[in-house]
Amino acid sequence: MNLSINSKKKNSYDVIVIGSGISGGWAAKEFCEKGLKTLVLERGRDVRHITDYPTAMSNPWDFPHRGRSTVVSETINPIVNKCYAFEEATEHFFVKDNEHPYIQEKPFDWIRGYQVGGKSLIWARQTQRWSDFEFEAPSRDGFAVDWPIRYKDLAPWYSYVEKFTGISGNRDGIANLPDSEVLPPFELNCVEKHIQEKVKEYYQDRQVIIGRCAHLTQPNEIHTQQGRGQCQARHLCYRGCPYGGYFSSNSSTIPWAAKTGNLTLRPHSVVHSIIYDEQKQKATGVRVVDTNSKEMLEFFAEVIFVNAACLNTNLILLNSTSSRFPNGLGNDSGLLGKYVAFHNYRGSLTASFEGYKDKYYYGRRPTTAFIPSFRNVFKQDTDFLRGYMVAFSASRAGWHQGGQEGFGAEYKENITQPGDWEIYMMMQGETVPKEQNHVRLSKDQKDAWGIPQLITSIEYDQNDEKLLQDFLMQGTEILEKSGCKNISPYDSGQAPGLDIHEMGGVRMGKDPKTSLLNQWNQLHHCKNVYVTDGACMTSVGNQNPSLTFMALTARAVNHAVSTQKTI
Ligand SMILES: Cc1cc2nc3c(=O)[nH]c(=O)nc-3n(C[C@H](O)[C@H](O)[C@H](O)COP(=O)(O)OP(=O)(O)OC[C@H]3O[C@@H](n4cnc5c(N)ncnc54)[C@H](O)[C@@H]3O)c2cc1C
Ligand code: SF4
Repeated sequence: MNLSINSKKKNSYDVIVIGSGISGGWAAKEFCEKGLKTLVLERGRDVRHITDYPTAMSNPWDFPHRGRSTVVSETINPIVNKCYAFEEATEHFFVKDNEHPYIQEKPFDWIRGYQVGGKSLIWARQTQRWSDFEFEAPSRDGFAVDWPIRYKDLAPWYSYVEKFTGISGNRDGIANLPDSEVLPPFELNCVEKHIQEKVKEYYQDRQVIIGRCAHLTQPNEIHTQQGRGQCQARHLCYRGCPYGGYFSSNSSTIPWAAKTGNLTLRPHSVVHSIIYDEQKQKATGVRVVDTNSKEMLEFFAEVIFVNAACLNTNLILLNSTSSRFPNGLGNDSGLLGKYVAFHNYRGSLTASFEGYKDKYYYGRRPTTAFIPSFRNVFKQDTDFLRGYMVAFSASRAGWHQGGQEGFGAEYKENITQPGDWEIYMMMQGETVPKEQNHVRLSKDQKDAWGIPQLITSIEYDQNDEKLLQDFLMQGTEILEKSGCKNISPYDSGQAPGLDIHEMGGVRMGKDPKTSLLNQWNQLHHCKNVYVTDGACMTSVGNQNPSLTFMALTARAVNHAVSTQKTI
């Protein structure tokens, strides 16, 4: 009896945060700064800033395969190797697919990074705020349920996280892309500026901007206090940045939390489920499988933040069953795991541009040009719901220039000159959450830690097809009006998931009958459990989502600290 009480005491904290990625890192920072003893449970290995970025300073010729992933690696990783950021220099930050099985009832490419820092090490760092055009969309357009919050609720928290994170960009004054707190922007190059001018000339409803991104173009004191320095525009970010030039949990929130002395970070700890105490009518802790010893351990806390990234958060809650919650924690509505949505990335265009042959650009800019969503913004003006952002960049072909052939001095001389201007354009489309797009647990198949495997049942619909066709037409028109040549539209036909913006399943809402979380991200029926990663999203907007997860997390921590009486 005493032993058990002692071990409970030893394993007790004020707060448990599940996951150390973008949202979990923010939860840890906020709680630790507010003086709370915080346990962060992370299923993967530890990754220390700088020391654990083994390829960050390597040259192409340092890699046995010059940076390309091998056939063996692609065979072991049939899913993550589809991600553009997966290569010889970065593959250590992605899961090994064969070690982490799940069941694709319908094709779904689940891209995961299981380590301290999660996907914050390998994200593309694009950061845009949501506006009321997104928060009001479900009620305006009649899908999903109404969000329980509006832009004004999140605006101060966007500012709060942006100042710490460091976002470069302009204040563009666009109604459906509210301005961020910004550091100096990266520059558009001459061809992108040319397209910007043409878009201004031909369209009232479109504007080309430089992508706002989590890079320190000019660090402020709060960034140097984090030990982070100026971005060098090398665009080797996916290897981990030794300068701390971009925001990751590893370079920013986790070491900041550790400095307070209140953080306990426990890698190799797969959370199996959340413990619900029927008598106390609240969650009291979590069950964890230690991946080294394979032991099942228990940890206890007054408040639990679930930040395992969208689908794993769904999995943990579905696996947290008790007599009170036989279908998963907080799941009285039966909607847990349902209304999962994502971003439609299927469409892209390539083109060439003649001229500006005497112009080049500085460095490898780690961001791109954007055209914020212009479809169905102020009113419904197409036969599909919602819209898409357009991202594009112009660059000059490098030394490999379309595999041109030759040999000898003349050939070498030729390839030292930059090639023609090329343009790449892609979409980021909103998908509409639907009940049938869901995840659930397998009844008979388990993973290596005895946890039921996740079944993904998520697909496109007619709305997504129409939105895709519209982008391909509009993209072609924009490039034509800009004087581009050789315009080729392309539908990758890729499965959902490869966008890596999956959201929903534990959605926020006003009514416990039709949602899982309230306006503070608390489970309606178990108020000391908060979900602030992508799982909480009622709809998905067209913006890159992680900035919104950060803002929701900081806001929810503030709520927990001011209202949970026991911490
Ligand atoms: C190549 C790429 C490009 C991207 N580009 C962008 C972009 O430009 N802009 C943008 O907004 N987003 C982008 N994203 C998406 C972004 O990375 C995610 O939205 C973000 O990381 C989500 O944060 P998170 O905290 O929810 O999850 P993660 O950062 O994935 O962290 C979740 C953590 O939880 C851990 N975990 C999972 N299950 C358990 C468990 N059972 N027990 C314990 N720990 C667990 C994981 O190991 C992981 O460390 C990109 C992603 C990738 C891969
Ligand atoms: S581009 Fe900036 S953030 Fe990326 S690796 Fe280089 S210095 Fe680091």
